[in-house]
Amino acid sequence: TEPLLTATALRKTFGPTIALDDAEFAIAPGEVVAIMGPSGSGKSTLLHCLAGIVKPDAGSVTYAGAELSSMSDTARSQLRRSEFGFVFQFGQLVPELTCRENVALPLRMNGWKGKAANAKADEWLERLGVGDTMAKRPGRISGGQGQRVAVARALVTEPKVLFADEPTGALDSLHGEQVMTLLTDAARSSRAAVVLVTHEARVAAYSDREVVVRDGKTRSMEPVL
Ligand code: ADP
Ligand code: ADP
Repeated sequence: TEPLLTATALRKTFGPTIALDDAEFAIAPGEVVAIMGPSGSGKSTLLHCLAGIVKPDAGSVTYAGAELSSMSDTARSQLRRSEFGFVFQFGQLVPELTCRENVALPLRMNGWKGKAANAKADEWLERLGVGDTMAKRPGRISGGQGQRVAVARALVTEPKVLFADEPTGALDSLHGEQVMTLLTDAARSSRAAVVLVTHEARVAAYSDREVVVRDGKTRSMEPVL
């Protein structure tokens, strides 16, 4: 399969810190790739560059054959909204909105009408086993439920690439495993590529392949079969 998203010779510095040093990455549709490495090694910076959130100093990121740096800011935002989904460690649900409204939000941003967006949101909440949170605000549900709602929100637009940065970092191991199973099953069934940042081997175990980052340099590991 042709890669969907690739990065070549990425370099990014923050003042004296070299966050990425000739980093390479490629992912195909339907693949789950774990970006592993110690804290501060450059994992999040790599994810941010791949998602077009951070602009590398050198090197290129290509999505479906198009170079991200050659797009306008508007085109890049549009791409993120329509083709990418995001799950982070915490703090991602809007506290003033119900869980249904939180999940419907990315659809509304893509032009969906309220009723259709809400119905789709409810479908995804049910699918992730948190249908009972629809009318509740995030503050009224548990951390594990909140992370499932966040996964529903990331997948509701049926993104081509799902970016997950330590998606289970705030959960205990049981809830973490449930979220990883739901996330990878849902992504695989829709052929989404999953870029998963984690420092935990048991989270990376859900991936097809690992890329290890150390001092901003990437190293591809052979897939474990
Ligand atoms: P990881 O995700 O592996 O923990 P990061 O990509 O967050 O690593 O960070 C890599 C290095 O770059 C670290 O030394 C970090 O402190 C630094 N860094 C990341 N983002 C910034 C930033 N916005 N400003 C300054 N330094 C940063
Ligand atoms: P993670 O836990 O995923 O490694 P961090 O806590 O390192 O994430 O970073 C969170 C955000 O802060 C990111 O957007 C990153 O770019 C930024 N950041 C990281 N390190 C620094 C830093 N030393 N100075 C400023 N911003 C930073």
